[in-house]
Amino acid sequence: MNNSIAMLARLLLDSEYAIVISGAGISTESGIPDFRSSNGLWKNQDALELLSLKTLYGDPWRFYDVGFELLKSFLNKNPNEAHKVVAKLEQMGLVKSVITQNIDGLHQMAGSKNVIEIHGNLKHSYCDSCGSLFPLDMIRKSVDKKRIPPPCPNCRGVLRPNVVFFDDQMQDSFIAAIDETKKADFALIIGSSLQVAPAAYLPSSIPSIGILNLTPTPYDSRSQVVIRDKAVKTMSGLLDEITGNGKQS
Ligand code: NAD
Repeated sequence: MNNSIAMLARLLLDSEYAIVISGAGISTESGIPDFRSSNGLWKNQDALELLSLKTLYGDPWRFYDVGFELLKSFLNKNPNEAHKVVAKLEQMGLVKSVITQNIDGLHQMAGSKNVIEIHGNLKHSYCDSCGSLFPLDMIRKSVDKKRIPPPCPNCRGVLRPNVVFFDDQMQDSFIAAIDETKKADFALIIGSSLQVAPAAYLPSSIPSIGILNLTPTPYDSRSQVVIRDKAVKTMSGLLDEITGNGKQS
C-alpha cells in the first residue's frame, strides 16, 4: 500500500470533523474534462471567457450557442469510484460534508448527502430579473428554437443557468461553505488546482489538509500529505486502507 494513502487514512481517522473539498478533477474520470487539462475537449475554446457574464450579456448568441453546449456536455454522466468513496466515507461518519466547485451533481448521484455547491448546479435556470427558478431544460428548448436570449415566462427578464460564472457573484452557499471550513479540523482536497478565487481561499483557515491532485497547487507546501495521482485509483486505495484496518467508526 502506498505510504501516502496510509497517511491520508490516518489523518481522516484521527480527525474530529473532516470535510472534502472537490474540483473539476474528481469528475474527469467520469468523462467531464476540466478546463485546464491540456487534452480536454475544450482546449480550442477559452472556456473561462466563454462561460462568463461578459459573454452572457455582451454576446448572448455565442454564450447560448457555444457556451451552453459546453454546459450540456456535463449532463448525463455517471459518478465514478472517487465520488462513491467520498459518499461511503460520509456514511461511515469519517467525512461530514463535501464542498464542491463542481456543477455536475455527481456527488449527490453517488450518495453524498451533505453537499455544498458553491458554484451552483445544472438542475435549474433562473430569471435574472424576477429570480424565478425553472428546470434547465427551459433554456434548452428556447435555444433549440433559436430564441436567444431565452425569455423568462413570467417577465421580460433573461433565463440563465443556475451556475456561478467566472466574473459572477457568489451564491449564499459560499457563506455556508465558509462556516463549514470553520468547523473542520481536516480537509481532503480532491481534483482542484486551487487557483479559482474565491474557492481557492477556503482551505486557508483549516488546520490540517491533504491534497489529491495530478498537478501542483499553491497549498502543497502546507499540506500534511500530497498525492499526485488519479482520484479513482487513490480513493479506492484509501477505502481499502480504511476498511482493511477495520477502524471505521
Ligand atoms: P480546477 O481548477 O478545479 O482544476 C482541476 C484540477 O484537477 C487540475 O489541477 C488537474 O491537475 C486535476 N485533475 C484532473 N484530473 C484528475 C484526476 N483524474 N485525479 C486527480 N486530479 C485530477 O478546475 P478547472 O478545470 O480549472 O475549472 C475551474 C472551475 O470550473 C471550477 O469551479 C470547476 O469546478 C468548474 N468546472 C466544473 C466542472 C464539473 O462540474 N465537472 C468541470 C470543469 C470545470
